Amino acid sequence: MPGFNHLYIPGPTNVPDQVRMAMNVSMQDMRAPDFPAFTKPLFEKVAKVFRNTTGRVFLYPSSGTGAWEAAIQNTLSPGDKVLMSRFGQFSHLWADMAMRLGLDVELIDCDWGTGVPVEQYAERLNADVAHEIQAVFVTHNETATGVTSNVKAVREALDAAKHPALLMVDGVSAVGSIPFDQDAWRVDCAVSGSQKGFMLPAGLGMLSVSKWALDANKRAGYARTFFSFEDMIANNNNGYFPYTPATQLLHGLNTSVDMMLDEGLENIWARHHRLATGVRKAVAAWGLDLCAQEEKWYSDTVSAILVPEGFDARDVISTAYSKYNTSLGSGLSKVAGKVFRIGHLGWLNEGMVCTALSVAEMALIDTGIKIEAGSGVGAAITHFSQTAADATPKR
Ligand code: PLP
Repeated sequence: MPGFNHLYIPGPTNVPDQVRMAMNVSMQDMRAPDFPAFTKPLFEKVAKVFRNTTGRVFLYPSSGTGAWEAAIQNTLSPGDKVLMSRFGQFSHLWADMAMRLGLDVELIDCDWGTGVPVEQYAERLNADVAHEIQAVFVTHNETATGVTSNVKAVREALDAAKHPALLMVDGVSAVGSIPFDQDAWRVDCAVSGSQKGFMLPAGLGMLSVSKWALDANKRAGYARTFFSFEDMIANNNNGYFPYTPATQLLHGLNTSVDMMLDEGLENIWARHHRLATGVRKAVAAWGLDLCAQEEKWYSDTVSAILVPEGFDARDVISTAYSKYNTSLGSGLSKVAGKVFRIGHLGWLNEGMVCTALSVAEMALIDTGIKIEAGSGVGAAITHFSQTAADATPKR
Protein backbone atom coordinates (compact mmCIF):
# COMPACT_ATOMS: atom_id res chain seq x y z
CA MET A 1 0.00 0.00 0.00
CA PRO A 2 1.28 3.50 -0.65
CA GLY A 3 2.19 5.72 2.28
CA PHE A 4 3.47 4.81 5.72
CA ASN A 5 2.29 1.86 7.68
CA HIS A 6 1.16 3.30 11.02
CA LEU A 7 1.98 1.37 14.15
CA TYR A 8 -0.27 2.13 17.11
CA ILE A 9 0.02 -1.08 19.05
CA PRO A 10 1.29 -0.90 22.63
CA GLY A 11 4.62 -2.44 21.72
CA PRO A 12 6.66 -2.84 19.72
CA THR A 13 6.46 0.92 19.40
CA ASN A 14 7.90 3.21 16.76
CA VAL A 15 11.69 3.30 16.71
CA PRO A 16 13.16 6.79 16.24
CA ASP A 17 15.45 7.21 13.24
CA GLN A 18 18.38 8.13 15.52
CA VAL A 19 17.95 4.83 17.35
CA ARG A 20 17.66 2.85 14.13
CA MET A 21 20.83 4.46 12.81
CA ALA A 22 22.67 3.83 16.08
CA MET A 23 22.00 0.11 15.62
CA ASN A 24 23.41 0.15 12.11
CA VAL A 25 26.95 -0.70 13.18
CA SER A 26 29.29 -3.45 12.09
CA MET A 27 29.48 -6.59 14.15
CA GLN A 28 31.71 -6.06 17.10
CA ASP A 29 33.95 -8.14 19.32
CA MET A 30 32.13 -8.36 22.64
CA ARG A 31 35.39 -9.39 24.32
CA ALA A 32 37.42 -6.48 22.94
CA PRO A 33 39.34 -4.40 25.50
CA ASP A 34 37.31 -1.27 24.67
CA PHE A 35 33.87 -2.94 25.03
CA PRO A 36 33.54 -2.03 28.75
CA ALA A 37 34.01 1.66 27.89
CA PHE A 38 30.72 1.33 26.03
CA THR A 39 28.78 -0.96 28.38
CA LYS A 40 29.64 0.38 31.83
CA PRO A 41 28.29 3.91 31.26
CA LEU A 42 25.29 2.32 29.52
CA PHE A 43 24.40 0.29 32.65
CA GLU A 44 24.51 3.52 34.66
CA LYS A 45 22.30 5.43 32.24
CA VAL A 46 19.70 2.67 32.15
CA ALA A 47 19.62 2.62 35.97
CA LYS A 48 18.82 6.35 35.83
CA VAL A 49 15.70 5.66 33.78
CA PHE A 50 14.53 3.23 36.48
CA ARG A 51 15.64 5.71 39.17
CA ASN A 52 17.68 2.97 40.79
CA THR A 53 20.66 4.13 42.82
CA THR A 54 20.90 1.25 45.33
CA GLY A 55 21.28 -1.77 43.06
CA ARG A 56 22.00 -2.50 39.42
CA VAL A 57 20.43 -3.35 36.09
CA PHE A 58 20.67 -6.54 34.06
CA LEU A 59 20.22 -6.50 30.29
CA TYR A 60 19.36 -9.97 29.03
CA PRO A 61 19.14 -10.97 25.38
CA SER A 62 15.50 -11.97 25.90
CA SER A 63 12.12 -10.32 25.89
CA GLY A 64 10.34 -8.97 28.97
CA THR A 65 9.10 -12.47 29.77
CA GLY A 66 12.71 -13.53 30.36
CA ALA A 67 13.15 -10.70 32.85
CA TRP A 68 10.01 -11.90 34.69
CA GLU A 69 11.66 -15.29 35.04
CA ALA A 70 15.02 -13.81 36.01
CA ALA A 71 13.37 -11.85 38.82
CA ILE A 72 11.75 -14.97 40.29
CA GLN A 73 14.64 -17.40 39.90
CA ASN A 74 17.21 -15.05 41.36
CA THR A 75 15.41 -13.84 44.44
CA LEU A 76 13.02 -16.61 45.53
CA SER A 77 12.99 -20.35 46.23
CA PRO A 78 10.62 -23.09 45.06
CA GLY A 79 7.59 -23.29 47.34
CA ASP A 80 7.88 -19.69 48.56
CA LYS A 81 4.56 -18.02 49.25
CA VAL A 82 3.92 -14.96 47.08
CA LEU A 83 1.01 -12.55 46.74
CA MET A 84 -0.22 -11.74 43.23
CA SER A 85 -3.29 -10.35 41.52
CA ARG A 86 -4.75 -10.98 38.08
CA PHE A 87 -6.79 -8.53 36.05
CA GLY A 88 -5.56 -8.93 32.47
CA GLN A 89 -3.52 -11.12 30.19
CA PHE A 90 -0.10 -9.98 31.41
CA SER A 91 -0.85 -10.22 35.12
CA HIS A 92 -2.32 -13.64 34.28
CA LEU A 93 0.84 -14.74 32.47
CA TRP A 94 3.19 -13.67 35.26
CA ALA A 95 1.04 -15.53 37.80
CA ASP A 96 0.97 -18.55 35.50
CA MET A 97 4.77 -18.47 35.29
CA ALA A 98 5.07 -18.22 39.08
CA MET A 99 2.83 -21.27 39.50
CA ARG A 100 4.68 -23.24 36.84
CA LEU A 101 7.97 -22.42 38.56
CA GLY A 102 6.57 -23.92 41.75
CA LEU A 103 5.87 -20.85 43.87
CA ASP A 104 2.97 -21.05 46.31
CA VAL A 105 0.88 -18.31 44.68
CA GLU A 106 -1.86 -16.60 46.61
CA LEU A 107 -3.74 -15.10 43.68
CA ILE A 108 -6.41 -12.44 43.98
CA ASP A 109 -8.63 -12.41 40.91
CA CYS A 110 -9.98 -8.98 40.06
CA ASP A 111 -12.28 -7.64 37.35
CA TRP A 112 -10.52 -6.97 34.08
CA GLY A 113 -10.60 -3.19 33.89
CA THR A 114 -9.42 -2.77 37.47
CA GLY A 115 -5.92 -3.13 38.87
CA VAL A 116 -3.94 -4.22 41.90
CA PRO A 117 -6.33 -4.41 44.90
CA VAL A 118 -4.20 -2.44 47.34
CA GLU A 119 -6.63 -2.75 50.24
CA GLN A 120 -6.76 -6.52 49.92
CA TYR A 121 -2.99 -6.61 49.69
CA ALA A 122 -2.80 -4.50 52.86
CA GLU A 123 -5.19 -6.81 54.72
CA ARG A 124 -3.26 -9.87 53.64
CA LEU A 125 0.08 -8.33 54.64
CA ASN A 126 -1.23 -7.21 58.02
CA ALA A 127 -2.58 -10.69 58.69
CA ASP A 128 0.72 -12.32 57.75
CA VAL A 129 2.41 -11.78 61.11
CA ALA A 130 4.73 -14.75 60.56
CA HIS A 131 5.98 -13.09 57.37
CA GLU A 132 5.36 -16.14 55.25
CA ILE A 133 4.80 -14.04 52.13
CA GLN A 134 8.18 -13.66 50.50
CA ALA A 135 7.22 -11.35 47.65
CA VAL A 136 4.38 -9.14 46.49
CA PHE A 137 3.82 -8.78 42.75
CA VAL A 138 2.41 -5.78 40.92
CA THR A 139 1.69 -5.42 37.23
CA HIS A 140 2.20 -1.68 37.06
CA ASN A 141 0.58 -1.20 33.69
CA GLU A 142 -1.71 -3.98 32.45
CA THR A 143 -1.22 -3.56 28.72
CA ALA A 144 -4.15 -5.83 27.85
CA THR A 145 -6.77 -3.62 29.49
CA GLY A 146 -5.10 -0.20 29.69
CA VAL A 147 -4.99 -0.16 33.48
CA THR A 148 -2.31 1.44 35.64
CA SER A 149 -1.95 0.32 39.25
CA ASN A 150 -0.60 2.24 42.18
CA VAL A 151 2.84 0.83 42.98
CA LYS A 152 3.55 3.50 45.59
CA ALA A 153 0.42 2.51 47.51
CA VAL A 154 1.58 -1.12 47.57
CA ARG A 155 4.93 0.01 48.99
CA GLU A 156 3.01 2.00 51.62
CA ALA A 157 0.94 -1.08 52.47
CA LEU A 158 4.12 -3.12 52.94
CA ASP A 159 5.66 -0.43 55.13
CA ALA A 160 2.50 0.05 57.18
CA ALA A 161 2.42 -3.69 57.87
CA LYS A 162 6.20 -3.60 58.58
CA HIS A 163 6.38 -6.48 56.14
CA PRO A 164 9.76 -7.46 54.67
CA ALA A 165 8.41 -9.09 51.47
CA LEU A 166 10.14 -8.17 48.24
CA LEU A 167 8.25 -5.84 45.92
CA MET A 168 8.28 -7.18 42.35
CA VAL A 169 6.96 -4.90 39.62
CA ASP A 170 6.21 -5.58 35.98
CA GLY A 171 7.03 -2.25 34.39
CA VAL A 172 7.19 -3.52 30.81
CA SER A 173 4.72 -0.95 29.49
CA ALA A 174 5.38 1.59 32.25
CA VAL A 175 9.07 2.29 32.81
CA GLY A 176 10.28 5.23 30.78
CA SER A 177 6.72 6.26 29.92
CA ILE A 178 4.76 6.92 33.11
CA PRO A 179 5.94 7.92 36.59
CA PHE A 180 8.16 5.20 37.99
CA ASP A 181 10.61 5.62 40.85
CA GLN A 182 12.40 2.48 41.97
CA ASP A 183 14.27 4.18 44.82
CA ALA A 184 11.33 6.10 46.23
CA TRP A 185 8.97 3.11 46.08
CA ARG A 186 11.72 0.66 47.09
CA VAL A 187 10.88 -1.66 44.24
CA ASP A 188 13.11 -4.71 44.51
CA CYS A 189 12.78 -6.12 41.02
CA ALA A 190 11.56 -3.88 38.21
CA VAL A 191 11.02 -5.73 34.95
CA SER A 192 10.95 -4.07 31.56
CA GLY A 193 11.58 -4.77 27.91
CA SER A 194 13.14 -2.87 25.07
CA GLN A 195 10.15 -2.59 22.73
CA LYS A 196 7.88 -0.15 24.58
CA GLY A 197 8.94 3.05 26.31
CA PHE A 198 12.57 2.38 25.43
CA MET A 199 11.64 2.75 21.74
CA LEU A 200 13.68 -0.23 20.51
CA PRO A 201 12.94 -3.50 18.77
CA ALA A 202 12.11 -6.41 21.08
CA GLY A 203 15.08 -8.44 22.27
CA LEU A 204 16.27 -6.99 25.56
CA GLY A 205 14.79 -8.18 28.82
CA MET A 206 15.60 -5.45 31.32
CA LEU A 207 15.67 -6.06 35.03
CA SER A 208 16.54 -3.37 37.53
CA VAL A 209 17.14 -4.67 41.05
CA SER A 210 17.54 -3.04 44.44
CA LYS A 211 20.29 -3.85 46.90
CA TRP A 212 17.71 -5.84 48.90
CA ALA A 213 17.02 -7.98 45.84
CA LEU A 214 20.77 -8.55 45.55
CA ASP A 215 20.79 -9.70 49.20
CA ALA A 216 17.82 -12.00 48.51
CA ASN A 217 19.78 -13.44 45.60
CA LYS A 218 22.28 -14.89 48.06
CA ARG A 219 19.50 -16.90 49.73
CA ALA A 220 17.42 -17.76 46.64
CA GLY A 221 17.09 -21.50 46.14
CA TYR A 222 16.19 -21.79 42.47
CA ALA A 223 18.65 -23.43 40.11
CA ARG A 224 19.51 -20.84 37.47
CA THR A 225 21.84 -20.62 34.52
CA PHE A 226 20.96 -18.27 31.65
CA PHE A 227 19.41 -15.65 33.93
CA SER A 228 21.83 -16.06 36.85
CA PHE A 229 22.56 -12.76 38.60
CA GLU A 230 25.83 -14.24 39.82
CA ASP A 231 27.08 -14.94 36.29
CA MET A 232 25.87 -11.57 35.07
CA ILE A 233 27.47 -9.70 37.97
CA ALA A 234 30.80 -11.48 37.58
CA ASN A 235 30.92 -10.45 33.91
CA ASN A 236 29.07 -7.11 33.98
CA ASN A 237 31.41 -5.82 36.69
CA ASN A 238 34.13 -5.88 34.05
CA GLY A 239 31.82 -4.60 31.31
CA TYR A 240 31.26 -8.00 29.70
CA PHE A 241 28.46 -10.58 29.52
CA PRO A 242 28.38 -14.30 30.33
CA TYR A 243 27.31 -14.96 26.73
CA THR A 244 26.99 -13.12 23.44
CA PRO A 245 25.12 -9.89 24.11
CA ALA A 246 22.67 -8.33 21.64
CA THR A 247 25.25 -5.69 20.78
CA GLN A 248 23.21 -3.84 18.14
CA LEU A 249 20.32 -3.49 20.56
CA LEU A 250 22.71 -2.19 23.21
CA HIS A 251 23.85 0.50 20.76
CA GLY A 252 20.23 1.40 20.11
CA LEU A 253 19.59 1.46 23.85
CA ASN A 254 22.54 3.77 24.36
CA THR A 255 20.93 6.28 22.02
CA SER A 256 17.39 5.81 23.29
CA VAL A 257 18.35 6.35 26.93
CA ASP A 258 20.30 9.45 25.89
CA MET A 259 17.16 10.73 24.20
CA MET A 260 15.07 9.90 27.26
CA LEU A 261 17.44 11.54 29.73
CA ASP A 262 17.77 14.59 27.44
CA GLU A 263 14.00 15.02 27.24
CA GLY A 264 13.78 14.45 31.00
CA LEU A 265 11.71 11.72 32.62
CA GLU A 266 9.16 14.17 34.04
CA ASN A 267 8.70 15.70 30.60
CA ILE A 268 8.22 12.27 29.05
CA TRP A 269 5.62 11.39 31.68
CA ALA A 270 3.83 14.69 31.08
CA ARG A 271 3.88 14.14 27.31
CA HIS A 272 2.36 10.69 27.73
CA HIS A 273 -0.29 12.03 30.05
CA ARG A 274 -1.25 14.76 27.65
CA LEU A 275 -1.38 12.46 24.61
CA ALA A 276 -3.35 9.84 26.56
CA THR A 277 -5.83 12.46 27.72
CA GLY A 278 -6.37 13.41 24.07
CA VAL A 279 -7.17 9.78 23.29
CA ARG A 280 -9.57 9.58 26.24
CA LYS A 281 -11.34 12.77 25.11
CA ALA A 282 -11.77 11.17 21.69
CA VAL A 283 -13.21 7.98 23.17
CA ALA A 284 -15.68 10.01 25.20
CA ALA A 285 -16.66 12.04 22.13
CA TRP A 286 -17.36 8.80 20.23
CA GLY A 287 -19.66 7.79 23.07
CA LEU A 288 -17.59 4.68 23.76
CA ASP A 289 -16.12 3.38 27.00
CA LEU A 290 -12.68 2.34 28.08
CA CYS A 291 -12.07 -1.10 29.50
CA ALA A 292 -10.47 0.68 32.50
CA GLN A 293 -13.44 1.06 34.82
CA GLU A 294 -12.53 4.23 36.67
CA GLU A 295 -10.33 7.23 36.14
CA LYS A 296 -7.88 6.05 38.80
CA TRP A 297 -7.05 3.08 36.57
CA TYR A 298 -6.56 5.01 33.32
CA SER A 299 -3.28 4.19 31.62
CA ASP A 300 -1.24 6.88 29.94
CA THR A 301 0.47 4.35 27.68
CA VAL A 302 -2.40 2.35 26.22
CA SER A 303 -6.16 2.69 25.93
CA ALA A 304 -8.33 -0.40 25.51
CA ILE A 305 -11.59 0.77 23.95
CA LEU A 306 -14.78 -1.28 24.23
CA VAL A 307 -16.91 -1.64 21.12
CA PRO A 308 -20.69 -1.63 21.62
CA GLU A 309 -22.52 -4.93 22.18
CA GLY A 310 -23.22 -6.73 18.93
CA PHE A 311 -19.99 -5.61 17.28
CA ASP A 312 -16.66 -7.39 17.06
CA ALA A 313 -13.58 -5.29 17.79
CA ARG A 314 -11.59 -7.62 15.50
CA ASP A 315 -13.49 -6.10 12.55
CA VAL A 316 -12.33 -2.61 13.55
CA ILE A 317 -8.74 -3.82 13.82
CA SER A 318 -8.75 -5.73 10.52
CA THR A 319 -10.39 -2.82 8.68
CA ALA A 320 -7.77 -0.42 10.07
CA TYR A 321 -5.04 -2.76 8.89
CA SER A 322 -6.25 -3.86 5.50
CA LYS A 323 -7.97 -0.67 4.38
CA TYR A 324 -5.95 2.04 6.12
CA ASN A 325 -2.53 0.41 6.57
CA THR A 326 -2.65 1.00 10.30
CA SER A 327 -2.11 -1.41 13.16
CA LEU A 328 -4.29 -1.02 16.23
CA GLY A 329 -3.83 -3.37 19.21
CA SER A 330 -6.07 -6.39 19.49
CA GLY A 331 -8.03 -7.64 22.49
CA LEU A 332 -6.29 -10.48 24.28
CA SER A 333 -7.85 -13.54 25.84
CA LYS A 334 -11.00 -12.60 27.83
CA VAL A 335 -11.39 -9.28 26.02
CA ALA A 336 -10.72 -10.59 22.50
CA GLY A 337 -13.35 -9.13 20.17
CA LYS A 338 -14.51 -6.74 22.88
CA VAL A 339 -11.75 -4.14 22.76
CA PHE A 340 -9.34 -2.60 20.35
CA ARG A 341 -6.30 -0.88 21.77
CA ILE A 342 -4.45 2.26 20.87
CA GLY A 343 -0.87 2.23 22.06
CA HIS A 344 0.21 5.78 22.86
CA LEU A 345 3.69 5.33 24.20
CA GLY A 346 7.24 5.87 23.20
CA TRP A 347 8.29 8.06 20.32
CA LEU A 348 4.99 9.86 19.79
CA ASN A 349 3.50 13.29 19.29
CA GLU A 350 0.13 14.95 18.81
CA GLY A 351 0.02 14.49 15.04
CA MET A 352 0.71 10.77 15.39
CA VAL A 353 -2.06 10.40 17.96
CA CYS A 354 -4.47 12.25 15.66
CA THR A 355 -3.56 9.82 12.88
CA ALA A 356 -4.36 6.86 15.12
CA LEU A 357 -7.65 8.45 16.12
CA SER A 358 -8.68 9.32 12.57
CA VAL A 359 -7.97 5.78 11.36
CA ALA A 360 -9.86 4.36 14.33
CA GLU A 361 -12.80 6.61 13.43
CA MET A 362 -12.81 5.45 9.82
CA ALA A 363 -12.60 1.82 10.86
CA LEU A 364 -15.36 2.25 13.46
CA ILE A 365 -17.64 3.88 10.90
CA ASP A 366 -16.83 1.23 8.27
CA THR A 367 -17.69 -1.46 10.81
CA GLY A 368 -21.12 0.11 11.27
CA ILE A 369 -20.57 1.58 14.71
CA LYS A 370 -22.47 4.83 14.99
CA ILE A 371 -20.07 7.63 15.75
CA GLU A 372 -19.91 11.10 14.31
CA ALA A 373 -17.09 11.53 11.80
CA GLY A 374 -14.45 13.85 13.19
CA SER A 375 -15.86 13.88 16.71
CA GLY A 376 -12.99 12.04 18.39
CA VAL A 377 -10.22 13.68 16.42
CA GLY A 378 -11.87 17.05 17.04
CA ALA A 379 -12.00 16.48 20.79
CA ALA A 380 -8.34 15.46 20.82
CA ILE A 381 -7.32 18.48 18.77
CA THR A 382 -9.19 20.77 21.13
CA HIS A 383 -7.45 19.19 24.09
CA PHE A 384 -4.01 19.39 22.51
CA SER A 385 -4.40 23.00 21.48
CA GLN A 386 -5.74 24.04 24.89
CA THR A 387 -3.08 22.30 26.95
CA ALA A 388 0.07 22.93 25.00
CA ALA A 389 2.00 24.58 27.82
CA ASP A 390 0.95 22.99 31.09
CA ALA A 391 0.90 19.23 30.84
CA THR A 392 1.14 17.55 34.24
CA PRO A 393 1.44 13.86 35.01
CA LYS A 394 -1.34 12.23 37.00
CA ARG A 395 1.04 10.76 39.61
N1 PLP B 1 4.25 -7.50 30.83
C1 PLP B 1 3.53 -6.58 30.19
C2 PLP B 1 2.78 -5.56 30.99
C3 PLP B 1 3.51 -6.56 28.80
O1 PLP B 1 2.80 -5.62 28.16
C4 PLP B 1 4.24 -7.53 28.08
C5 PLP B 1 4.22 -7.55 26.61
O2 PLP B 1 3.47 -6.88 25.97
C6 PLP B 1 4.96 -8.48 28.80
C7 PLP B 1 4.97 -8.42 30.18
C8 PLP B 1 5.73 -9.54 28.12
O3 PLP B 1 6.83 -8.96 27.49
P1 PLP B 1 7.51 -9.64 26.23
O4 PLP B 1 6.46 -9.78 25.18
O5 PLP B 1 8.58 -8.66 25.88
O6 PLP B 1 8.05 -10.94 26.67
